[in-house]
Amino acid sequence: MDRLQEEEKDMKCVICHGDEIKITDVKEEFTIGNDIIYVPIKVPVCKTCGERYYDRRTVQLLEEVEEKLIKTKSELKEVGKVLMYEVSHSL
Ligand SMILES: [Zn+2]
Repeated sequence: MDRLQEEEKDMKCVICHGDEIKITDVKEEFTIGNDIIYVPIKVPVCKTCGERYYDRRTVQLLEEVEEKLIKTKSELKEVGKVLMYEVSHSL
């Protein structure tokens, strides 16, 4: 059995069994230390339930991106801040 040769065009969502899987712009989120880094990529997304599908090439790319991010974090442009609000327990 060769499961790697499945046709992407006939993809059905494994979660909701919908067949509306379209290439969509998404922001992949990496957490490095206390920072969150967004990397815009295109991946197939189920329009019905929102499940994202990553092929092996994309997973590999994201691993490379993450390695690069760890090394070159200081060269990135700041587009926002991640803030924390600590709720004080009143009880
Ligand atoms: Zn789905």
